[in-house]
Amino acid sequence: MAAVDAGTAPADAAGGRPSPLRLLLANRLSALGLLLLGAIVVLALAAPLLPMPDPDVTDPARRLLVPGEGGTVLGTDHLGRDLLARLLWGTRVSLLVGVAATAAAALAGSLIGLVAGYAGGRIDGALMRGIDLVMAFPYILLALGIVAVLGPGLMNALYAIALVNVPFFARTVRGITLGLSRREFVDAARLSGASHAAILFGEVLPNVLPTIVVTMSTTVGWMILETAGLSFLGLGAQPPQADLGSMLGEGRKLLFSAPHVAVIPGLMIFALVMAINLVGDGLRDVLDPRLKSGALAAPGAATVVRRGAVPAAPADGTALSIRDLHTEFHTGARRLRAVGGVDLELAPGERVALVGESGSGKSATALSLLRLVPSPPGVITGGRVTIGGSDQLAASPEELRRLRGGRVAYVFQDPATSLHPLFSIGDQVVEALRAHRRLSRRDAEARATDLLERVRIPSAAARFGAYPHEMSGGMRQRVCIAMALANDPDLIVADEPTTALDVTVQAQVLGLLRTLTDERGAAVLFITHDFAVVSELCDRVAVMYAGRIVEVGPTRAVLDDPAHPYTRGLIDCVPILGQPRRRLDAIAGAPPPADRLPTGCAFADRCPVVEPRCRQGEIAMSQLPDGRAARCLKPQSRIA
Ligand code: ADP
Ligand code: MG
Repeated sequence: MAAVDAGTAPADAAGGRPSPLRLLLANRLSALGLLLLGAIVVLALAAPLLPMPDPDVTDPARRLLVPGEGGTVLGTDHLGRDLLARLLWGTRVSLLVGVAATAAAALAGSLIGLVAGYAGGRIDGALMRGIDLVMAFPYILLALGIVAVLGPGLMNALYAIALVNVPFFARTVRGITLGLSRREFVDAARLSGASHAAILFGEVLPNVLPTIVVTMSTTVGWMILETAGLSFLGLGAQPPQADLGSMLGEGRKLLFSAPHVAVIPGLMIFALVMAINLVGDGLRDVLDPRLKSGALAAPGAATVVRRGAVPAAPADGTALSIRDLHTEFHTGARRLRAVGGVDLELAPGERVALVGESGSGKSATALSLLRLVPSPPGVITGGRVTIGGSDQLAASPEELRRLRGGRVAYVFQDPATSLHPLFSIGDQVVEALRAHRRLSRRDAEARATDLLERVRIPSAAARFGAYPHEMSGGMRQRVCIAMALANDPDLIVADEPTTALDVTVQAQVLGLLRTLTDERGAAVLFITHDFAVVSELCDRVAVMYAGRIVEVGPTRAVLDDPAHPYTRGLIDCVPILGQPRRRLDAIAGAPPPADRLPTGCAFADRCPVVEPRCRQGEIAMSQLPDGRAARCLKPQSRIA
């Protein structure tokens, strides 16, 4: 069934993402943080090499010099110690303790989280109750208690801070591990006989690692603050050793007579923690490519449109007219041309198939119609989409909202993900109805039951309250079709609605779509990568390749005598029952990457009848008899 899908390597995987450092520096705040942090770290590390007085040597004669006085840079404190030296040595200590505590907490917490999430059951229960126990105490109070028991000192402060932060890591990591350890790739590893340790550290850990790193980078700042807090209270660094917290504590008493003694370490803590947090935020964006590409950002209500000249309006009376549609994905410096000039018209009641390999831009085309392509990264860069006489690419958000699910309905590939898992199917159909018209609850329920009957849900009234998980895939897809039909749309866009179904159910669903659209006169744009389903349903077929339509015509004519070599290749991939010996000539090679399309015919590299002139320039659609057209210089040519 999905024969044409085979052998299409993800063409965009090869395109280079800029290096992580470049990405980090591209974020201006993170770059600033990195610069500041780098400067502080270098100064702290270089402290022993710098020509500075010993930070711990007191000199009562030079007490409380202000910055710049007596040959000092930052002045001296109440014991006459050089503040610059103490600041740099203190920063060194604070940084070291903060980083060490973070590493210890991350190591212990992640291990607990990994084991608890992976093992589940009693082990999970026992470990998590232990964690809950630690979390039951106020955080800083617990740290104080631990230091009180162990005795004041920097090392003990480090232990205390690390311990109170373990739950933080354990909980985060457990949550992710819990989800991951039930995923298919972990099952696959289990089935291959891998040991628990191998699965945990080979399969699960690499997926959790980015989160651990990000959590570490965002907690280091915190831990430095906490260590400073303990030292400020006299429980951390002990005199005469300096760390930022103890310096602040010593300066506190002189806040009014010699403010610089407290202000200087205070500013350093502020700068250090801010720099670390800025870098941490940037790091999080870099490590999760979805954040950068905008996939996790809340997509706007409508795809961004940035187009130049608008093509002319079509004649009245078309259900859908697409003219010269261009849709691109802009991620970083890359521009993926997913749709590169698509023209297509649907008459009312007409069913048109859009076929092509995965990645040819079918979904991007379909989603562009009502501006459903997520933005960022999607941008519609040209064209005109006319539905019911008006240009959708210029419609207001309110007009779009009314159209979506109203005059235009979508059915998507996977009914399991397009239905809400927590609402009964009846309620979901009712919701679809009431989103677009004023109906009493009772009327809406009656109509919904009627719709469920029309899509042949057996004993629809009884199943009204059933939840999606209680139904089979075919049933769920019927519910989605019922929702699509709810408001008598003029146009139904079905994006591979039968790909996830088995062949018999697929045939039923196709038959249903045919009858229902015949009854109601709705036009259908039916997207599939499967030629076999096209002839079941569609009057016309448009073949898409690398973002453009390469052939269009009445279904029978195209299937019987394909004009474009690509169409011929696709059809030759379809197995025929009873002809086991027929060679399935899969099309060699892969489609060109969408950000590096060649000049001339995009299919040239895979074409059996290619000539040099095919690569020279834009290939126009040539009109053929019987209302057909193909984007080929030698349509209908056969290999001898
Ligand atoms: P089809 O539906 O024909 O399988 P799509 O329309 O989904 O193909 O994709 C067309 C092209 O756009 C592909 O090259 C795909 O990698 C790219 N693409 C789709 N969605 C995104 C996205 N959110 N971000 C970046 N590229 C995308
Ligand atoms: Mg698709």
